[in-house]
Amino acid sequence: MNDSSNDSPAGSLAGTFAERLIAWQAEHGRHDLPWQNTRDAYRIWLSEIMLQQTQVATVIPYYTRFLERFPDVAALASAPQDDVMALWSGLGYYSRARNLHRCAQVVVAEHGGRFPSDPETLATLPGIGRSTAAAIAAFAYDAHAAILDGNVKRVLARVFGIEGFPGTPKIEREMWALAESLLPRSDLPAYTQGMMDLGATLCGRGKPRCGECPFDSDCVAHATGRERVLPTSKPRKAQPERYVDVLVIRSGGRVLFERRPDSGIWGGLWSLPELTPPTGEREADDASLRERLTAHAAALGATQGAVQSLVPLHGLTHVFTHFRLHLRPWLVTLSGPSTTTQSTGSQRAWLDAAGVAAAGLPSPIRKIADALSIVSPGDGQLCLPA
Ligand code: SF4
Repeated sequence: MNDSSNDSPAGSLAGTFAERLIAWQAEHGRHDLPWQNTRDAYRIWLSEIMLQQTQVATVIPYYTRFLERFPDVAALASAPQDDVMALWSGLGYYSRARNLHRCAQVVVAEHGGRFPSDPETLATLPGIGRSTAAAIAAFAYDAHAAILDGNVKRVLARVFGIEGFPGTPKIEREMWALAESLLPRSDLPAYTQGMMDLGATLCGRGKPRCGECPFDSDCVAHATGRERVLPTSKPRKAQPERYVDVLVIRSGGRVLFERRPDSGIWGGLWSLPELTPPTGEREADDASLRERLTAHAAALGATQGAVQSLVPLHGLTHVFTHFRLHLRPWLVTLSGPSTTTQSTGSQRAWLDAAGVAAAGLPSPIRKIADALSIVSPGDGQLCLPA
């Protein structure tokens, strides 16, 4: 990192950084997002959690629906987890939704339904990290606290020429210290919004629009032609591949779903029953695999009769941050009654079209459901056979 004493170019930049950012934000920043122009910590918190790892355009309809259904923290705290997961369905990173629900319950139970104003206390709540706590505290309560999300790290790395992957503890510590040293004495909401806006609009990951940037005359990355190189990328590792066979077990116009455990991927969502290959490798579609799938389906659907057929369908791949998941769906038809109504307890349920439409499903499972017309009341509308 460059020397940031006040006599150096970086030092003089640091001295005017906040003022220039606030002036730029006032003229060119975003002012009309649905979660702006409020000091309501509940609304600010909700938007901040949704915006973690998700783009503004995707978040807006979810944010609006959430507020319609849960207008305040008490409404969210008292809602069943299934309702929260169903409204979150499609936004991804589902631990955010579980933490959101838990956090609302803690705010109601331990803080009288009011979000704490101090960033350190906020950061003790479920799902709220240091940067999110600072954003909530700055927007809702004018707190003197620095944010440091991915966008801010990119801006700081470029403007101040910080080398090294920002995910390493050493670089992250350096960036926190810099972010805190840059904070203005007042106008924290405008400054915080400016940091977010600069990273999200001008100084994006792709081609930054340096000509419009308030720091183009001082930015180290721009001056040295390293906009594409900074921030330093994460050292590359091969992405692991995982495989799973999922069963679409149908009986009487309903499909069997299982609720996933709270921990692990898609925790708390409803999904199709699955069989993971014992070796971790993709298994060949042979007689032994079909025997095991049939036995698993038969055990799960025992109350609905015997397995009549097992048909492989086109697979799909879902990319997570840390691995790629290959799903291979199988359509299982049971010889059971023409109607199936029973639920099999809180962890398994035979869902009809309306039940599938209302359930919180992970997006690849929703794709399978849609492609197979599971949500359509009639049978015989299947597509995607392998
Ligand atoms: S000058 Fe370019 S690279 Fe530097 S902060 Fe501005 S937009 Fe980003």
